[in-house]
Amino acid sequence: MSWFDVKVMTCPTCQREFEAGTAETINVTRMPWAREQILAGHFHTVECPHCDAVHHVDRGFLYTDFGRNHFVMVHANASLGDWPALEEVTGKVFSDVTHHAPPLVQQMATQFTVRAVFGLRDLEDKLRLWDAGLDDRVVELLKLELMVQTPALARRADLRLSVQTVAESEDRLEIEAWSHDGSHPPVLYGAALARYRELDARRAELEDRYPGLFFKPFASFRRLARETAEPSEVS
Ligand SMILES: [Zn+2]
Repeated sequence: MSWFDVKVMTCPTCQREFEAGTAETINVTRMPWAREQILAGHFHTVECPHCDAVHHVDRGFLYTDFGRNHFVMVHANASLGDWPALEEVTGKVFSDVTHHAPPLVQQMATQFTVRAVFGLRDLEDKLRLWDAGLDDRVVELLKLELMVQTPALARRADLRLSVQTVAESEDRLEIEAWSHDGSHPPVLYGAALARYRELDARRAELEDRYPGLFFKPFASFRRLARETAEPSEVS
C-alpha cells in the first residue's frame, strides 16, 4: 500500500502553479528507493516546470517498513508545536490498523517500533540510527546533553538537532544543530558513542525516569523540557 496524491502547488520562487505528486503513505518494503531518497535528503522534492526551482514539500505521510518493523507517522515540520495531540493521533492510527487485523498480524504488531516525527529530517535521523543498530531514544538523551552543555544552543526555541553521520571508526556521532525557522546557520557538533554506551547500560533506570521518551511515539528530547521538573544533563 503506497498512495500518492497529485496536487496543484504554487511555486514559492516564481508564484506560478504546477501539479506535483507527493506521498500519503509509503511502504518501503515495496519501494526501497523511497527509503534511499529519504536518507539522501531528496524525498518529497518537487521541481517547478516553469522556473526549474527545486522545493522541499513539508507534508504529513505514513512511513511503513514491514521488513524492519517500523511504523512512523511523519507530521509536517511546521506542526511540531502540536506534538502532544499528534503523538496521540499516531498511537491511535497504529492501534486502529492493528486492532482489526488477523491474530498473526496483531502478534507482529507488538514487535513494531512506532514513532511520531516532524519533517523528513527527523525521519532521516531515525532511519540512520536504526541502520547503525542504535536506540534513537538513548541518542535523544545525548542530544539533550549537547543542548544543555552548549551555551550557544541553550534556550533556543527554533533549535532542531539531527544526526548526520554515525562515524563508528571515530566512535562518535555528528549532530547538526539547525533552525526550523532559518534564524540561525547550521552548525555541526560531535557526540561520543562512549557516552551512548554509558547511558545504554543504565537503560532500566532511564526508562523509569523518562517513561514518555521511552514508551510514547514522540521519542524526542524536546518532550523532556515539558515532562521533567528540571531538564538538565543526565547525571
Ligand atoms: Zn517556479
